[in-house]
Amino acid sequence: MLKLPENFENYADARKAGFLKMKELKETGKKIVGIYCTFVPTELVEAADGAVVTLCASSEEPIPAAENHLPRNLCPLIKASYGFGLQDTCPYFYFSDFIVGETTCDGKKKMFELMNEIKETYVMQLPSSRDEAALDAWEKEVVRFWKKLEDFYGITISEEDVKKAIEVKNRERDVMLKFLELGKLNPAPISGYEIGTRLDALGFNPNIEERCRIIEERTAEVLKDWEENYKGKESKRPRILVTGCPNSGVREKTIRVIEEMGVDVVAFDCCNGTREKVEKVDTTMPVTRALAKKYLNINCSIMSPNTGRMDYIKDMIKEYQVDGVMELVLTACHTYAIESHYVRKTAEEMNVPYLGLEVDFSSGDAGQISTRLAAFAELLQK
Ligand code: SF4
Ligand code: SF4
Repeated sequence: MLKLPENFENYADARKAGFLKMKELKETGKKIVGIYCTFVPTELVEAADGAVVTLCASSEEPIPAAENHLPRNLCPLIKASYGFGLQDTCPYFYFSDFIVGETTCDGKKKMFELMNEIKETYVMQLPSSRDEAALDAWEKEVVRFWKKLEDFYGITISEEDVKKAIEVKNRERDVMLKFLELGKLNPAPISGYEIGTRLDALGFNPNIEERCRIIEERTAEVLKDWEENYKGKESKRPRILVTGCPNSGVREKTIRVIEEMGVDVVAFDCCNGTREKVEKVDTTMPVTRALAKKYLNINCSIMSPNTGRMDYIKDMIKEYQVDGVMELVLTACHTYAIESHYVRKTAEEMNVPYLGLEVDFSSGDAGQISTRLAAFAELLQK
């Protein structure tokens, strides 16, 4: 695995530091909204002068408590997210004024009904297709969320506020995308483990400008190091694309382990990767339509059909010079598990090996996963 920088802030440290920042912000009266998914148009929260905190949980610790209310055979991300709220052990949940959920997968949508009994949970009704009628319906949801924020906080959000927030968020997408696109360089200049950990850790930092500054500095540093030490040199390490469910809860036993076996993770087709960042909000369109269009186009498997994801994976395989595809599907995530059929076919069409892994947040399957990763790494290294 490529060396981590000395000042590398790991996920747990970032979570702790973010907690203190959040507490300070709350004491100054800042509005804080908790979200679980990239489909929520966070520009509207920014326009309300609020901060968004990403609550998606990645730890197995709160799962047993959640299983008192939720079925065991449910995605660990949903159970952990609910468990944190139920036990009141997540400071970010605690500091959120209210929660915004969405009708993405069935498990999450139904869990939000239970979560609403713990803390107000406002649910955006996301359609699962992308035709004109779906776009109209989703635009109405964008308008409804705008109104919800105004009513909840007793404020008025102007169109100008939203336009400014769109500019700010579009810039943030560019900054994050440039960082992720470091993976296009060959030899790989940075470990995929570092890329993923850094981006997830930013979810705990409520300040957009600060988030951009941290990532711009690291991007510049990595580029300089690559130019001076790696450019033009050949690397025998295979390069893989990681796709599938959000991977922060399984990164240690998958991405970290395969990189330690001599494989570079260079590309991420997942919602903590490039998926939400590739398309910007169109600043030439009316704002609510532009927001609706951008968010409806996110290539998550809860959309049906979701052929755009396969086209995107093909483009990524070419652009990042990918030698293999590793798909991480969280246990009981039906939409990604079913769509993996097409991901496997896409990899075959592109003549690159595919590995599909079903994973949860426990450490119990780490040994078995390592064995499968070792076989995949060996296949790629031949
Ligand atoms: S995988 Fe899909 S539903 Fe889950 S958080 Fe990402 S965008 Fe939302
Ligand atoms: S990983 Fe799958 S099951 Fe879990 S919340 Fe996301 S879409 Fe739903």
